[in-house]
Amino acid sequence: MSARIAPESVSEELLEMTLALAEPERDLVILSEGNTSELIGDEIVVKASGSSMRTATRNDFVAASVDELVRLLRDPSADQDRLTAALTAGEIDGRPLRASVESLVHVAVRALAPVRYVAHTHPTDVVSLLASTQAASAFAEPVYTDELLILGRPLFVPYAQPGLELGRLFLER
Ligand SMILES: [Zn+2]
Repeated sequence: MSARIAPESVSEELLEMTLALAEPERDLVILSEGNTSELIGDEIVVKASGSSMRTATRNDFVAASVDELVRLLRDPSADQDRLTAALTAGEIDGRPLRASVESLVHVAVRALAPVRYVAHTHPTDVVSLLASTQAASAFAEPVYTDELLILGRPLFVPYAQPGLELGRLFLER
């Protein structure tokens, strides 16, 4: 167990971003999908597994060491059990609290650039394109000039099992 329960580390900005992205009219996340994180020092404060962004409180986040998770990503002998142990923070009000299995995507981003906030959502329009057999080519070239100017180059990552497999592929890409 290396992640820790740290409601005092959850900033107003992180909480507000999480709740705003989950507003139903935005259509960015449904059910308990999606997660957010903030880089604070050498830790990420990341949403816990299984909790909904729409109803998130400070008790729905966990703090985890970036270095430790990056080491796990880069260690070919690491397995799902070690990942689960690294993400588990303990219990709060009798409910187990574990960092999202997609924390590795948040960590892979920070391994390349120390950005403060990362939000992972599933916008319906993007998921529709990803569900197509033409998904890779849909993201290979911008369709409009403004798309390139505003969004920059998207990173296309093919489907992988959430957890180590997805984290490693994301880091590699
Ligand atoms: Zn996802």
